[in-house]
Amino acid sequence: MGFSNDKLISPIGAKEESSCAAIDGAPSIPMTRRRWIADEVSGTHAALTGDHADHLIRVLRARLGQEFDIATGAVVRRGRIVTIQEGRVEFELGDEVSVAHIPNVTLLLAIFKFDRMEWAIEKCTELGVSRIVPVIARRTDAHLALAAAKRVERWRRIALQASEQSRRAAPPEIAAPTNLHDVVSHVTSVLRIVLAESEEQILLRDIFTSQPAGEIVLAVGPEGGWAEDELQLFQKSGWTSASLGPTILRAETAAIAATAIAISELA
Ligand code: SAM
Repeated sequence: MGFSNDKLISPIGAKEESSCAAIDGAPSIPMTRRRWIADEVSGTHAALTGDHADHLIRVLRARLGQEFDIATGAVVRRGRIVTIQEGRVEFELGDEVSVAHIPNVTLLLAIFKFDRMEWAIEKCTELGVSRIVPVIARRTDAHLALAAAKRVERWRRIALQASEQSRRAAPPEIAAPTNLHDVVSHVTSVLRIVLAESEEQILLRDIFTSQPAGEIVLAVGPEGGWAEDELQLFQKSGWTSASLGPTILRAETAAIAATAIAISELA
């Protein structure tokens, strides 16, 4: 089964642009306005450019006067389309839209098969992860490790689309691939948790009841799991190991489950 991300944003009709949708006879369901993360912002104007703009123009049939929520970096504002041209859609910005607080969760994700990795990046972005650092672990496939640097732009595009779809104010940062040894000992000031199927005592969710955390870093290993020396390095560097339960999860399932638990416990 593949996990293609080529069509992450499905076309919407006029109903989706409204703030509320009603099904005959059922209570109305509040819906949020479709959101775009601006490529350019200047004063009371913002723009989408390139493929980003063409997607809105062609697939979603942009029209002058249409309104969306536009994320402009620090804030999200209501935006009305004032110009449409090839590769560029401009918005006039209006009132600020309230934005939910998202806890600060960084994910160190050992590189694994790219289709599954994309799935993990998309889903962890929807859940609200702040930063993803793809790491090269001892058991990362050598070909994948070599090819990873060329994938980063695609991972960033997937994260951008997933951020707009999930109404985030900004996409997560997707860092350049880094060797595990270079990153583990440098993370010092936050709660650091390595997910390990060999951990039998401590469940991830229990860590949050014993240690209040403002900011956390989670590490998920490759398909072959963490090597023994890597687990020792985590321990020596002050990381806490945690379990996600008695079953062995695929790496992408572990990343999604750990992110969901952390975000729901910290929100
Ligand atoms: N080598 C393992 C095996 O087949 O026995 C599987 C490794 S698992 C596919 C990949 C990564 O997911 C692990 O390194 C760990 O970070 C995470 N993981 C999977 N299941 C887990 C669990 N039950 N608890 C904590 N982490 C888990």
